[in-house]
Amino acid sequence: MKERIKEILNRINKAASSCNREPESVSIVAVTKTVPAERIREAVASGISVIGESYIQEARNKYDLLSGTPVSWHFIGHLQTNKAKYAVKMFDLIHSVDSVKLAEELDIQAKKINKVQNILIQINIGREETKSGINEEDVQDFIKESARFQNIAVKGLMVIPPFFDDPEIVRPYFSSLRILQGKIKNSFVSDAMRSISVDELSMGMSGDFEVAIEEGSTLVRIGTAVFGERK
Ligand SMILES: *Cc1c(COP(=O)(O)O)cnc(C)c1O
Repeated sequence: MKERIKEILNRINKAASSCNREPESVSIVAVTKTVPAERIREAVASGISVIGESYIQEARNKYDLLSGTPVSWHFIGHLQTNKAKYAVKMFDLIHSVDSVKLAEELDIQAKKINKVQNILIQINIGREETKSGINEEDVQDFIKESARFQNIAVKGLMVIPPFFDDPEIVRPYFSSLRILQGKIKNSFVSDAMRSISVDELSMGMSGDFEVAIEEGSTLVRIGTAVFGERK
């Protein structure tokens, strides 16, 4: 695993250098769905500092086993409103906020434990029917409506593009997210909206993270390339 992580870091360095970005501006979120606690511990010992879980129940099962392991927990799966109370307890960043209703519930639950919950807005690029996420044209409304939630902090955007073997076919999804980020930044006018930032872009997985980095990714979500094929 150490070798695999070293190889990924090399590829991140190369991709970042090729577009004049600092390699340190890209963080690996090691995707740990189906990965048992002891393998996560091994990954952390090999240099991983952030993990991404996709299912609340699975994360809860591992969370106690890994108490004391120095790693930041991110949530990258679809989050149901009724699981928000568990999510705010475990995760430093929730990548997949896709409705005002969910943001509101996270705000309520975060307030209960005296926390400001960092979130990303999941965007549905190209209005794919099967995908969750907020449509590009609705994101400004989402930001305006959620500005009143004092216990959540928007930090950026996230996308899960449809699957293609060829990363070049995925590239337009990544560049669309970066363009949307620019539009949002340019539209920060009201004081309420100055409290949000969209600096983080969560995009890129094992098969396409180099292209995602070229398009501005700051958080690459990598499972298979770290842990091997999932069963
Ligand atoms: C599983 C998963 C990944 C990681 O995929 P790999 O191809 O194994 O790197 C990334 N993001 C999300 C949202 C996932 O569910």
